Amino acid sequence: MQVYQFPSVEDQEVIRTAVEVFLNTQTGSARNRMLKTIRAVLDRYRISRFGFSDYTVEATKMPGFCTVKARNLVSGYNCPWCGEMLYGLQSKVRILSIQERLNNHLVTYGCKCGKIFAKYENLD
Ligand SMILES: [Zn+2]
Repeated sequence: MQVYQFPSVEDQEVIRTAVEVFLNTQTGSARNRMLKTIRAVLDRYRISRFGFSDYTVEATKMPGFCTVKARNLVSGYNCPWCGEMLYGLQSKVRILSIQERLNNHLVTYGCKCGKIFAKYENLD
């Protein structure tokens, strides 16, 4: 029997913290820890997705992994909140997920300031 239940406030905070740590540190190990932490919470509640105000986390078919998808769309070349550049080697913005579509991709970015947002990127 499938049990549908929202993660507790504490478990929601666990997810948010894991995401913030990755965005702040931007290390590969923090990214792995974030993905595993999110998936562990989803599995524990036997849910495949959970939505926060600014992003949604979803379990992938592959065990142990998940995707983070933004709920807010942006345009332009900078983080709308702190001005950080989206592109370039110096950028403190990381790609969290890419949803492939027919003519463009919907890319979810996570900025060092903690904001998560999506932008349509045209294919070359
Ligand atoms: Zn930012």
